[in-house]
Amino acid sequence: MKNLTYLNILLFIFSCGSEAQKSVVDYAESITETELKTHLYSYASDEFMGREAGTEGEALAINFLKDYYESTGVSSGSTDGSYFQEMTVTDRSGNSIDSYNVLAYIEGSDKSNEVLVITSHLDHIGVEADGQINNGADDDGSGTVAMMEIAEAFIEAKEDGNGPRRSILFLHVSAEEKGLLGSKYYTDNPIYPLDNTVANLNIDMIGRVDSLHIEQPDYIYLIGSDILSEDLHDVSEKANQDYVGLTIDYRYNDPTTLVYETGRWRENRYYYRSDHYHFIKNNIPAIFYFNGTHKDYHAPTDTVEKINYALLEKRTRLVFHTAWEIVNREERLTLKEDSEIPSDD
Ligand SMILES: [Zn+2]
Repeated sequence: MKNLTYLNILLFIFSCGSEAQKSVVDYAESITETELKTHLYSYASDEFMGREAGTEGEALAINFLKDYYESTGVSSGSTDGSYFQEMTVTDRSGNSIDSYNVLAYIEGSDKSNEVLVITSHLDHIGVEADGQINNGADDDGSGTVAMMEIAEAFIEAKEDGNGPRRSILFLHVSAEEKGLLGSKYYTDNPIYPLDNTVANLNIDMIGRVDSLHIEQPDYIYLIGSDILSEDLHDVSEKANQDYVGLTIDYRYNDPTTLVYETGRWRENRYYYRSDHYHFIKNNIPAIFYFNGTHKDYHAPTDTVEKINYALLEKRTRLVFHTAWEIVNREERLTLKEDSEIPSDD
């Protein structure tokens, strides 16, 4: 008996020791293409009816996310513990819509009052008049499942005693497709003070390859990274160089760069076209992660079997490594002194 007890103690010490030695790479490796695929095959299935804000499809989507965070051990980020931020928003035709953002939260350790907000939009464009469902596997099922996996990696780290120093809000915004309404609502009614919000990483469409990169698909467009903070840009570049090695394409940092979309050439204006805009507008540095548009953009053919899951895994790990550095570094990201925030007016 004595020897056995001694062995148990040794095993206990050994297992504690090995946990403490786990590194950021180990947690990044918990983000896998298999799990991303499993989540997306549920989230972008016909059952969710295109996840249009204000419909039953949205109700299914928000409950799916809440159940996931509850079962993964990630806390609610809303004030009442429900994971939901209820809002009434007005769409482009002037209709009032009852809609919900979903918020999950991992509290930081010694710098917990500073918050990194990671966003993606949970909604999509619903069902066509002829009954075809817009599954939105890429837009933005890809960003949604990426956030689920990033949250899981951070909570695993926290359970091992390697939790983030700053807090992280996983903000799944709704009504993006109706005019970025969920992110506008959150930044107009923030649950965590915007003054203490250190950055926003916004993921909207990261599962596909556009026509410009068919030959070399290991790429991602980053938009906005150096507009308010050189620090943010440098952290992002280093995370990619040290851990991921994607080709980062910055061409759409200029909103006037032309893009061929829905049958014509137009200025891309991506800078204004997803949820990071409402953070940047509030002087919060942000990065928009994006694969560019494709022929299935906003069509019923944006489906799960067209997603490149190995690439989705790499891109998700890039966001994770960038987030890890932002929340664990000693200094808060510094803002440029003279940055001019581009206006959409
Ligand atoms: Zn989108």
